[in-house]
Amino acid sequence: MEQFSPKDFEIIDMHAHIFPHKISEKATLSIGKFYDINMHYSIGESERLLEAEAQIGTKRMLVCSVATTPHQVVSINDFIHEESTKHPEMIPFAAMHGDFPDIAGEIDRVIGMGFKGVKLHSDFQRTPLDSPASYRIYEAIEGRLPVLVHMGDYRHDYSHPTMLVKVMRDFPKLKVLASHLGGFAAWDEAETVLEGSDNIRFDTSSAIGLMSPERAVRLIRHYGVDHCLFGTDFPMWDPKKEAKTLLSLGFSREEYKMMFSENAKAFIGL
Ligand SMILES: [Zn+2]
Repeated sequence: MEQFSPKDFEIIDMHAHIFPHKISEKATLSIGKFYDINMHYSIGESERLLEAEAQIGTKRMLVCSVATTPHQVVSINDFIHEESTKHPEMIPFAAMHGDFPDIAGEIDRVIGMGFKGVKLHSDFQRTPLDSPASYRIYEAIEGRLPVLVHMGDYRHDYSHPTMLVKVMRDFPKLKVLASHLGGFAAWDEAETVLEGSDNIRFDTSSAIGLMSPERAVRLIRHYGVDHCLFGTDFPMWDPKKEAKTLLSLGFSREEYKMMFSENAKAFIGL
């Protein structure tokens, strides 16, 4: 088996979170609490992200932040826009909430600002993936922006893989980035009901480091290497460790090229 290092590849991190300075520590802590996990980094600020990514020479990174209430949407989007203007290597994904009063207007605004997609986290937002509130968002973005969706939880039922199957049936032109290989802690269900197709890609964040290597390889092969993308879920995990985990799975150079950058570029048009 050929051994690779992160430096052998152009790397795009397709799942990272950043927070404004004044709430960064609190926001990072509360995510750790929500998942009962020790966050690798205690502060999820842009500068920390860039330092962490520099360890593996990451070229670009998708950045997002979740709006847990409708009134946070605009300020989060302004913040993500500001950061990605300052740091052009960042790929901005917008926050949205199903109860936001003018979804279409805000989607027009973020498209105008150059955002590349929308991020939703049904569990934090307590809004099921297949609820009317979420459907209002898909209606506004189908055919316009891809959506990065948090997938899976072992305690709640807001982002179950079967819900995504229904959403994709109802929105045939919606492009979906399904996080965590289709279902954090719900990988059996994900493998049963989800498969690779033109409209879906799966990121490896908060997934490959939490299962056996055999299972990680099997899931990636199930979706297809051409449908999987590298992601870190910063600040939850260390990009260096995440890249090493992916590189330990024994894929070929060509396959790693696809997962580290080529699939991402093709899917979101970079
Ligand atoms: Zn996320």
